[in-house]
Amino acid sequence: MKAIQVHAFGGPEQLKLEEVPMPKPAAGEVLVRVHAAGVNPYDTYMRAGTYAVKPALPYTPGSDAAGVVEAVGEGVKKVKTGDRVFTAETITGAYAEYTLAKEAQVHALAEKISYAQGSGIYVPYGTAYHAIHHEAHGRASETLLMHGASGGVGIAAVQIARAMGLTVLGTAGTAKGRELVLREGADQVFDHTKPGYTEEIMKATGGRGVDIILEVLANVNLAADLKLLAIHGRVIIIGNRGELTINPRDLMARRSSARGFTLWALHETERSAVLAGVSAGLENGTLRPIVRKELPLKDAPQAHVDILAPGASGKIALIP
Ligand code: NAP
Repeated sequence: MKAIQVHAFGGPEQLKLEEVPMPKPAAGEVLVRVHAAGVNPYDTYMRAGTYAVKPALPYTPGSDAAGVVEAVGEGVKKVKTGDRVFTAETITGAYAEYTLAKEAQVHALAEKISYAQGSGIYVPYGTAYHAIHHEAHGRASETLLMHGASGGVGIAAVQIARAMGLTVLGTAGTAKGRELVLREGADQVFDHTKPGYTEEIMKATGGRGVDIILEVLANVNLAADLKLLAIHGRVIIIGNRGELTINPRDLMARRSSARGFTLWALHETERSAVLAGVSAGLENGTLRPIVRKELPLKDAPQAHVDILAPGASGKIALIP
């Protein structure tokens, strides 16, 4: 089968389309014929060798695949050959024609969700769902600011928070991104490239501040976020690419908090809750992954350039 292989950590050119042996499912494993593989920013950090998790080389990137069950190993009960599924992590990597996953990593894909959309479920929706429900403990009628709402996690968070009855404010850097954020359910949208936009956000809350901020670029925004919080407000750090200085007094004055998490560190019970909640939303139509671009698998290097460029508007899917 064909798969993207990384033989050395480095730039996007390290993503090479190669022939590799077809994996065979052992007991408790599922072989999935991949119809689409989702591209996430962490795939690029891992490829560069700068991520906390460094896989043994060579490896095939990707945790989010959608496709059809090709074969199952002994004892697998959850799915059967021919079922439409998406993966929440895999054993052999998603950027490939076939991927091997543990039974627990494979989940039924709702009929109304396309394969390209299915490749944009686990990392973006899992992260947004966990952040809002388990870290922020969001409640209907609270105000949530999605700082970076036009990307994969951002659109997911806007849809989840809106369906829960929160007031949703979002930011995006382009007119196209802002239009998408409003269309997917935000009450108001702001331009995070415009000087003074945080004052506009504060004004939109009548000077009260926001209850929850989901932050995808903490090294740039965290100090300003702390000043935007209402009393008992919470910043949930989802993404960060460096260091910054904050004034802890901003937390003290508002009895507020900032905390972070990584999806990989979730407990099994949290992971099950996340997948049950997200799957229900996909079934009932409140959650609708947005695909901005489909690229052939061989264009994985281009996808890694595009995902880090400004101007997000949903997910990028690789099609084997
Ligand atoms: P993405 O699809 O590439 O989207 C990136 C988002 O960041 C876009 O909405 C982009 O907006 C926005 N952005 C750019 N500059 C910004 C600024 N100055 N202030 C606020 N937002 C800004 O990425 P993603 O999949 O949503 O992931 C976002 C981040 O979260 C990544 O760093 C990723 O690694 C991280 N993440 C972490 C976890 C975890 O487990 N903690 C899980 C998933 C993702 P424009 O393009 O419109 O400017």
